[in-house]
Parts: sequence; structure tokens; C-alpha cells
Amino acid sequence: MLTVHGLCWLCQMPLALPAWGVCSRCSKTLFSKMCGCPQCGLPSASADAPCGRCLQKPPPWQRLVAVNDYLPPLSQMVHRFKFSGKAELASALARLLLLAVRQQSGLPPPEQLISVPLWQRRHWRRGFNQSDLLCKALTAWLPCEYHSRTICRIRPTATQHQLSARRRRQNLKNAFQLELPLQGRHMVIVDDVVTTGSTVAEISRLLLRNGAASVQVWCLCRTL
Ligand SMILES: [Zn+2]
Ligand SMILES: [Zn+2]
Repeated sequence: MLTVHGLCWLCQMPLALPAWGVCSRCSKTLFSKMCGCPQCGLPSASADAPCGRCLQKPPPWQRLVAVNDYLPPLSQMVHRFKFSGKAELASALARLLLLAVRQQSGLPPPEQLISVPLWQRRHWRRGFNQSDLLCKALTAWLPCEYHSRTICRIRPTATQHQLSARRRRQNLKNAFQLELPLQGRHMVIVDDVVTTGSTVAEISRLLLRNGAASVQVWCLCRTL
């Protein structure tokens, strides 16, 4: 995926609008054809009602929107974005996310975006936060507030993927802190890939505890 600005990230054809990043033909191949639960975003029999898992044990957020599962070619774009932090890719991916959001009905109009903060040192080593870049790209199209420091990570956490679900939750407990008030607002947490959802769940609980009217999660990929 070597790309010259102005060409589609996937097929290299010239784009009518360079900021879109992906041509309309390729865009169609990136969206999920599967039915997803409106609350957890995982495959479900109905897109109109929460799945059995959510009825039994609902996640703390109200709605989850994803472009697709973590599958190529979307996963390749996300991977490349995660490790390069290219601004053109951020806007191409944010646009796909916005198209996925517009396919949904009944979402509360988002008032404020929240990025998932990285622990300072990891941020420094990589030089950017992919969730922050997606939020910034989205604010170009949405009449939404976004302040990169609304929440911060107040302590480092162990790498999540080796931990059990219970340990993950303990590991993240009180890892975040709210820095700016958000009373009564409809919030959207934006992330690149949501797997177990334990990080976005912890942030959702923090936002709701502090008076958020609702919490949605928007992510590029929802996978297990
Ligand atoms: Zn294309
Ligand atoms: Zn569900």
C-alpha cells in the first residue's frame, strides 16, 4: 500500500476528492455486510434490538458503531494508520466511520467526542495517539466539541491482552480521570479497534458517573 496523495489507498485510482482517501468503489468493500447488535456491535440476528449477551449483561455505553470486523482490507489500513499516524489516513478512516454512523438510525446527536488517552510514555514513544487523530479529523465534519485533554490516564496499566476479563477490569479501575466538565452532554468515545471493550467500558463508566447524558462508542473495527 504505497500511496501518493490524491490516489485511493486501496486501488491507487485518482480520487475526485483527495481528502476522502478511498474511492467510492473501494469504500463499498470496507463496510460490514453482517448484522451487528446496536449496543455491543458484535454479530447478531437483529440490528434493531440488543443481542442476548447485552440483554443479560449490558455494556455501560448505549450504542456502538463500527465500520467492520478487523478484516482486510480495512484491518490493513488500520494497521498502517496505527504505526504511521499519517494524517491522510486519519481523515480517510474518519470519513468511513462517519459513513457507518450515518447508516445507523436513532443515535443521539453527538455533542462531544472523547479520545482514548494513551499513557504518556507510550504516546511519547509513538509520537501520536490514533484515537486523538480520528477525533480531530471527525471535528472537520461534525458540529461537535473535542478537547484532547477531557480525560487523562492517571497511571500506567499492564498490557491488556494477556489478562482475563476480570483482571482487565481491575487493571483499568481508576486508570482515567476527568479533567473538564461534561454534565448533561451526549458523548462519543472514538477508538480505532475495540476488542474486549474493557477500556471503552471503563471510560463510559467514568463519563456516566460524571453526568454524561449518553455514551456512544464509535470505532473502525469491532472484533473479539
Ligand atoms: Zn479504490
Ligand atoms: Zn449486543
